[in-house]
Amino acid sequence: MNIHEYQAKALLAKFGVTVPRGGVAYTVKEAEDAARKLGGPVWVVKSQIHAGGRGAGRFKDDPGGKGGVRVVKSVEDVHDNANAMLGATLVTKQTGPRGKQVKRLYIEEGCDIARELYLGLLVDRASSRIIVMASTEGGMEIEEVAARTPEKILTVIVDPVTGFMPYHGRKIAFALGLEGKQVGAAVKFLSALYTAFVALDAAMVEVNPLVITGGGDVIALDAKMNFDDNALFRHADIADLRDEDEEDPAELEAAKHELNYIKLDGNIGCMVNGAGLAMATMDIIKLHGGAPANFLDVGGGATRERVTKAFKIILSDPNVEGILVNIFGGIMRCDVIAEGVVAAAREVSLQVPLVVRLEGTNVDLGKKILAESGLPIVSADDLGDAAEKVVKAVKEAS
Ligand code: ADP
Ligand code: MG
Repeated sequence: MNIHEYQAKALLAKFGVTVPRGGVAYTVKEAEDAARKLGGPVWVVKSQIHAGGRGAGRFKDDPGGKGGVRVVKSVEDVHDNANAMLGATLVTKQTGPRGKQVKRLYIEEGCDIARELYLGLLVDRASSRIIVMASTEGGMEIEEVAARTPEKILTVIVDPVTGFMPYHGRKIAFALGLEGKQVGAAVKFLSALYTAFVALDAAMVEVNPLVITGGGDVIALDAKMNFDDNALFRHADIADLRDEDEEDPAELEAAKHELNYIKLDGNIGCMVNGAGLAMATMDIIKLHGGAPANFLDVGGGATRERVTKAFKIILSDPNVEGILVNIFGGIMRCDVIAEGVVAAAREVSLQVPLVVRLEGTNVDLGKKILAESGLPIVSADDLGDAAEKVVKAVKEAS
């Protein structure tokens, strides 16, 4: 789960991470009030959307205009810019061409920037550890730095047994070229950030830029946080920060029904029980020259209701030109699953080719139900057969 910049900053501040003062605003009036409270003389009006690159982004109705992060010098200018930004659609490198509508702003005090650096913490699968990435190339996308000048990224692996140690901090501070009191400030900052990361069950924290001010302070000027969904049950306060406006509607709908759905770019919809089987199904579709439109794990109970819901979610994607149902009937018997698939296909009056591969308890009965349904369902015997058939059916239909 992702949260907004202002929410991340508030969470991190509780752990002693230094951030500029600011106030959230949903309306122009609130923006003005927040600006007065901060006092100035410099303010920054920042669009709050779940995407980076806001500063360099442009608004749809004003492509030649200013970006989604604006430095201003009067309360009137806060008012005018808030008025222009609220409700407008911001397009950045990360939003895709459709952009995202700005519904919240963060009014922040202006910061005297001497240097912009990069800092990121994430759970690294290769080392099974939290790693800290630091770079002098602040403000740039780290993916770009990694591609062009990988030598400019320092990676420090933290052992969970010791946690973050002062020497980790010093190593990073020196690599970033910090001097004097900046070193101590950076060590404190990093240690607070790591503590917050672990305590909040974060999956990723990105501070880009991390700023050294003219006075030598170390400040998080931007903050992006992502949390481990499986740990949200123990962080009700973080779960409350969810902003559904920022999420994919189909994925949101799926989550409500405990279906694990992730939209992809292909045209073959997949309905599978079990994450491992879902991965294998996607692989084998690829192997046969097709492309999966989604990952979907319907979970243990492939009941009629769940299968119907899953069909509807798959079909809400206009790119879907065929569906492959690949379900293993273990505790749930194949005949029950077949009845569910037939009923669901009728209910959504399915217009695209449907290939079903069932295996497990009562598989023969299940296949019989599919064959006698009168629906144009193609039955498959194994995974390879199923993938071949759905790829072929989609090709023929188009
Ligand atoms: P994004 O990464 O989405 O573009 P940032 O929060 O990183 O958004 O802001 C973009 C740039 O705007 C920063 O790199 C920094 O130069 C400037 N900026 C952001 N917040 C402030 C601030 N409080 N004071 C001064 N400049 C700021
Ligand atoms: Mg940034």
